[in-house]
Amino acid sequence: MTNTPASPGHGSPESVTLNNGVEMPSLGLGVFQSPPEETAAAVETALRGGYRLVDTAVAYANEKEVGQGLRRSGVDRGEVFLTTKLWLTDYGYDSALRSFDTSLNELGVDYLDLWLLHYPVPVAQDIVDASYKAAEKLVAEGRVRAIGVSNYTPRLLRRLVDIAEVLPAVNQVELHPYFMQNELRALHEQLGILTQAWSPLGAVTQYEPDSPNSGRRVLDEPVITEIAAKHGKTPAQTVLRWHLEHGTCVIPKSVKAHRIAENLDVFDFSLTPEQVEAIDALDTGHRSGPDPEATRLDSFSQHNP
Ligand code: NDP
Repeated sequence: MTNTPASPGHGSPESVTLNNGVEMPSLGLGVFQSPPEETAAAVETALRGGYRLVDTAVAYANEKEVGQGLRRSGVDRGEVFLTTKLWLTDYGYDSALRSFDTSLNELGVDYLDLWLLHYPVPVAQDIVDASYKAAEKLVAEGRVRAIGVSNYTPRLLRRLVDIAEVLPAVNQVELHPYFMQNELRALHEQLGILTQAWSPLGAVTQYEPDSPNSGRRVLDEPVITEIAAKHGKTPAQTVLRWHLEHGTCVIPKSVKAHRIAENLDVFDFSLTPEQVEAIDALDTGHRSGPDPEATRLDSFSQHNP
């Protein structure tokens, strides 16, 4: 195998501009639940195939393998947008700064592109605010190009924006056809914060079996399979395209080479407004993942998010 990366061309992700002027690819690879032993290969495959964004987190326990995949791909560090997330057990000013250094070390890089607070913790607001202050310091020092949050509700986001010196660039949230988050997306637009969808293909309905949307699978919905057939695309490609039509960025996860390629091949077609609306109609208004307003610092001690 040569070490020359495939140059992104047809099927390469478009970029969006964050509120601080930084460019971010609209589609990237997620690695939640990617086993460490498969993560490096998935990242290498993705980058060689044209991906330019990888989304990991301390809590995924695979930052090291993401870094290995990056180096094996042969793609320059400067061409890749790397996101990781601060985990709850590291919240607090000094511990957040230490965790940031550990993440850089694990990834084997000397800066990050995006650093997110993984969850809000309304019952420990002081410690969350201190963590965000640490993020603001790192962005001021140029050690991270953009900062943001994840799983913030409209109420918590409004509060953060009131006290923040640096506007969060991104809010990464559960978002798929069963849970469209209309109010939150409208607030993001008003505030200039980018919406990035986690579980864009709706996988959370499978791994959170007690959720209101369990027993259904986004990718099996007839409205989606029918629209997919009309475009000669797969259900996954159709759902990813639906997100992009709404201006939402996506980070689909796969460890399978054929799906990694499939998920990137969504930039050569578009949905009609009627098709977008037909998929919108699947919204149940119910999230499948944990309620961010109920998060405590020890909420996930039994399992990773
Ligand atoms: P996704 O909606 O991306 O779905 C991933 C699942 O779908 C995997 O089981 C994958 O299996 C399968 N899959 C991937 N591509 C296809 C395809 N083309 N056709 C059929 N099945 C497919 O779910 P995630 O919950 O993983 O979300 C994506 C990313 O979002 C995460 O990896 C993580 O980076 C981030 N995330 C962030 C959270 C947060 O709190 N901020 C919470 C959860 C996720 P396989 O690998 O076998 O292909």
